[in-house]
Amino acid sequence: GSVVAARATGLTKTYGHGESAVHALRDVDLALLEGRFTAIMGPSGSGKSTLMHCLAGLDAATAGTVEVAGRELSGLDDTALTLFRREHIGFVFQAFNLLPMLTARQNILLPLELSGVKVDRDHFDEVTAMLGITDRLGHLPSELSGGQQQRVAIARALVAQPDVVFADEPTGNLDSDSSAEVLGHLRRSVKERGMTVVMVTHELEAAAYADDVVVIRDGRVDAHLIEPSQDQLV
Ligand code: ADP
Ligand code: ADP
Repeated sequence: GSVVAARATGLTKTYGHGESAVHALRDVDLALLEGRFTAIMGPSGSGKSTLMHCLAGLDAATAGTVEVAGRELSGLDDTALTLFRREHIGFVFQAFNLLPMLTARQNILLPLELSGVKVDRDHFDEVTAMLGITDRLGHLPSELSGGQQQRVAIARALVAQPDVVFADEPTGNLDSDSSAEVLGHLRRSVKERGMTVVMVTHELEAAAYADDVVVIRDGRVDAHLIEPSQDQLV
């Protein structure tokens, strides 16, 4: 069977109290598989971001549990959660979040250097080559296209060798050519490097690159479409 990378059980998230309470997630059970590219889709306000934030340990559940890479997150305090994220989780954002005064290479390496992790040179070369940015590493973000900037941000997430990469609308700021380029590279990092990528998107064209699609509606899982040729859920 397949290995579960992230699992939510009875996951409930409520913002506020009483009559003004917003039920962002209602009793969600979900298992996302290792080595797969999963898209989380759904209308605006359906709970996609909340689900991603809970799975990524950025936001605490109101009820239920979240397990990532075999660890239950609800038992961790803020310090432990920060360490857990640093070690196990990578993030890619819509806005790239690159530092403008640093080159692509420095942007990729800085987070690891700050956390005292030694980067394996071969691994760095492999990841940047796979993302097609080897000849862009000495450039500042302002000298790169949007698609290239996002591939630098993906490299930054991948060099740390996380168990799961969460991508929040990674193509939201890109034209369709750059989107296709970024999605193709995300897909390749899953297929060629065995990465696990979970992407929140409202674009059907983006979800078409994924193996599996989770549809969220009104705080619930409306459908979990597993690519048929793959192993079934354990
Ligand atoms: P999506 O990502 O699908 O657009 P969200 O997860 O952002 O949906 O939001 C789900 C629901 O929770 C929405 O009704 C939204 O207004 C509400 N919500 C999200 N974040 C907060 C917050 N910090 N405080 C209060 N309500 C929130
Ligand atoms: P390459 O440039 O190496 O031919 P692409 O970057 O176009 O490949 O695509 C990378 C991966 O994404 C491939 O596995 C391909 O099958 C898949 N892919 C490409 N276009 C689409 C699409 N429109 N919908 C779904 N998957 C796609």
